[in-house]
Amino acid sequence: MARCEVCGEREAAYVCRRCSRRVCPDCFEPYSWLCKLCYEPLHKRVEYGAFTPSATSMLPKVLFIAGLAMIFLGMIVMLMVPLLLEQAGIQGSGGFIVFIGPFPIAFGAGPHGSHLIIAGVIIALAMLAFIWLYKPWTTR
Ligand SMILES: [Zn+2]
Ligand SMILES: [Zn+2]
Repeated sequence: MARCEVCGEREAAYVCRRCSRRVCPDCFEPYSWLCKLCYEPLHKRVEYGAFTPSATSMLPKVLFIAGLAMIFLGMIVMLMVPLLLEQAGIQGSGGFIVFIGPFPIAFGAGPHGSHLIIAGVIIALAMLAFIWLYKPWTTR
């Protein structure tokens, strides 16, 4: 009788439909009619594929990260613009921009507040344009 070609110990009872190895019942997967050596790599690949995030499931995460990046940039603008205006000798202005997702909400105060809002909107549009052109969710 032929010995199992996988473990080399027990008696072969089946023939793998993929590699034609003669294998014992312990080294055989009857549901797929494959030997252990053929079945396990295939099985692992299927499991790995199930846990690999697809482009669709990545999209909300990417948008969330982009939103956080915009909030961070908005905070930088909020801190930097009044300082820059102060450096330029313009006093009494303040403003800040809040991003909820891709939507900027700008607040301005003082005689130059509207300028801060315009600067914030321009930065927001530049960010949106950059994200739209770069499309981080389509890259791998
Ligand atoms: Zn065996
Ligand atoms: Zn096989």
